[in-house]
Amino acid sequence: MSDPTAWMRDEYEVLVKASLDWRPPVLEGPSTPRCRVGGRERLMLCSNNYLNLSNHPRLKEAAIAAVRSHGAGSGSVRPIAGNMDLHVRLEQRIAEFKRRDAAIYYQTGFAANAGLIPQLVGKGDHLFTDELNHGSIIDGVRLTKAARNIYAHNDMGELEDLLRKAPDTGRRLIITDGVFSMDGDTAPLDEICALAGEYGAMTYVDDAHGEGVLGEGRGIGVHYGVEDKVDIEMGTFSKAFGVVGGLAAGSEHLAKYAFNKSRTFLLSGSAPPATVAACTAALDVLDEEPQHVVNLWKNTAYFRRGLQQLGYDTGVSTTPIIPAMCGSSKQAQALSGELMQRDVFALPIVFPMVARDKARIRVIMNAGLAREDLDEALGAFEMGGKAAGVL
Ligand SMILES: *Cc1c(COP(=O)(O)O)cnc(C)c1O
Repeated sequence: MSDPTAWMRDEYEVLVKASLDWRPPVLEGPSTPRCRVGGRERLMLCSNNYLNLSNHPRLKEAAIAAVRSHGAGSGSVRPIAGNMDLHVRLEQRIAEFKRRDAAIYYQTGFAANAGLIPQLVGKGDHLFTDELNHGSIIDGVRLTKAARNIYAHNDMGELEDLLRKAPDTGRRLIITDGVFSMDGDTAPLDEICALAGEYGAMTYVDDAHGEGVLGEGRGIGVHYGVEDKVDIEMGTFSKAFGVVGGLAAGSEHLAKYAFNKSRTFLLSGSAPPATVAACTAALDVLDEEPQHVVNLWKNTAYFRRGLQQLGYDTGVSTTPIIPAMCGSSKQAQALSGELMQRDVFALPIVFPMVARDKARIRVIMNAGLAREDLDEALGAFEMGGKAAGVL
């Protein structure tokens, strides 16, 4: 008998041969700035836990208390029987935090994009999307029958051209990442909002890497002074907020419409109490403890300058995502290995995630790293960079 799943082994082996399969290191404890991997303590330089909130006592205590008071699971989807006071309170807090009228909390950011985007435009409508938008946006876009207009990365001239040429019928939606996670650059949201106003389009920004980071932590809308102009501010709790979950903030009718229409929300169990309570605590901490965002940016400036002084090209980033350019995928992989040998955990980003000659180590800075940690990491980048032939 032939095995009908044999093709999976073949396809997997193709990945292995091309060194494109994932074999991630295993964290043997929490995602802390000094974490345990492979039985040793390492400096963590590639988590999305920008503010180290996943280890904040208030988040941990909130999660434990919520398990005691509300149990381990929510029991259902939100619209049927899984709508707890904890969810409702979190959505109020998100709206307050984003200074918007209302918000909806999804199980993940992916679920927000895949569930909401297909409900905003359909047949006869027009989508305008940056070529480098995140995969979850791409999947959301694939679920719509709207006409797709993909513009070159951050190319406002092309965006305007496409807006001008699109037929004057149906709805229009411009979607962009706020911070682009490979290069750490940002979308010119002020210009995008201006174009949207001129050409009658809705705006949707995915601020997964901007919330907790830009605009004193409130995100890219505040950073560009257009927080009240963005129609749909989407985000995630899985990065700087240190937990997990997605969000969309905007008008009262957006939140109500999204609640009633998003299939990933309607047809999938709601987040468990511990998660929801920890997310609410994350927003409280951001409001009351500004030092985390301040430390993040201090560390970012210090580390970026340090890498540049060693001779690294750090690309076009203006955020705590700091690429150390290596050239070929082989060189990036070699440098990552050299870093790991020196107890620095920083993974390479290689083709096909970036162009063949733009492989890099992507450092994501963390507010919880001390100055000694950064100096130690820079030392590893110096020695490792020489050993790997990158410097
Ligand atoms: C990480 C990320 C997501 C997915 O968010 P999750 O909450 O982890 O599912 C969506 N969009 C962008 C731009 C991201 O970086």
